[in-house]
Amino acid sequence: MSRLVVGECIVDLHPEGAESGAHGDAGTYIRRPGGAPANVAVGLARLGEAPDLWTRLGRDGFGDFLAETLREERVPDTYVERDPDAPTGLAVVALDADGDRSFSLYLDGTASTGLEPGRVGDDALAAVDWLHVGGVELAHEPARSAVFDLLERTPDAVTVSFDPNARPSLWREFDYADTLARALPNVDVLVASAEDLDPAGYEGTAETVASAVVADGPHTALVTRGAAGAYARATADAPWGAGHADHPGFDAGVIDTTGAGDAFTAGAIEALDGGASLSDALRFANAVGARATTAQGAMAALPRCEEVDSFLDD
Ligand code: ADP
Repeated sequence: MSRLVVGECIVDLHPEGAESGAHGDAGTYIRRPGGAPANVAVGLARLGEAPDLWTRLGRDGFGDFLAETLREERVPDTYVERDPDAPTGLAVVALDADGDRSFSLYLDGTASTGLEPGRVGDDALAAVDWLHVGGVELAHEPARSAVFDLLERTPDAVTVSFDPNARPSLWREFDYADTLARALPNVDVLVASAEDLDPAGYEGTAETVASAVVADGPHTALVTRGAAGAYARATADAPWGAGHADHPGFDAGVIDTTGAGDAFTAGAIEALDGGASLSDALRFANAVGARATTAQGAMAALPRCEEVDSFLDD
């Protein structure tokens, strides 16, 4: 089994004190590893086999911290690039009065969006079973060209999953709806929350949105609904067969939902690539997503397979 995940691995700066519910005038930030594709890669590594991660870090302290994190999580460094000139990308987390988080991203001109076309060769690509791509790269050059080049060169035998992770504020230079429309014909499995799909014109319930997505290229749509779980639809082209599934979320005792969607994606890839049915994969992914909400930070609570299995047995 050989999997490749592509996209940003960045530092999330959290206001200190968030753990105790204190916020507002926090004077210090603490660093945590993040970036949606990196979370998916670490999620997969914890569930089973570590995938390759094609990402780019600065040659700075944050880059060292992330490289060390990836090493500890057994993610190979084959495609972990270090940029001698540009800094590592950052996400700054803000908390509102209810403790809900929002992210401001520092990505333009950073190493994180500096992926260049051609780094992953055709032979390496042909050896991959599953390719997962995050959407933030598509909002910034040169990473946008690199990811489209990869999507267009990927052989049909490779299953391609894609999570657009839409943050409207990121899309200054490029049209998000057009970009999604260009990407979807090269995507097999789209994973997204309904909010991420709405700005691209996929409006309505999870059921109607999923049906519209599978009419536009992917054979499978997984639409996440936060605490309410997720909905899935697949056409007859899917290796797991045509069908649909709807699973409510699990109540895991939420502490921080950051990264829940990435955990869900890792769970879905692990299950579907391992031969699970659409319905079983959705249930497994929901459990991984729910478990990931039980500690602060995107990566801290990403579960191991045994934890998910015992959680599902309870
Ligand atoms: P994102 O994190 O990308 O915004 P969602 O909020 O839809 O996406 O969450 C993704 C998945 O994580 C959900 O489908 C669900 O399986 C799980 N999840 C998210 N929030 C919760 C929660 N509060 N309780 C239980 N599961 C959750």
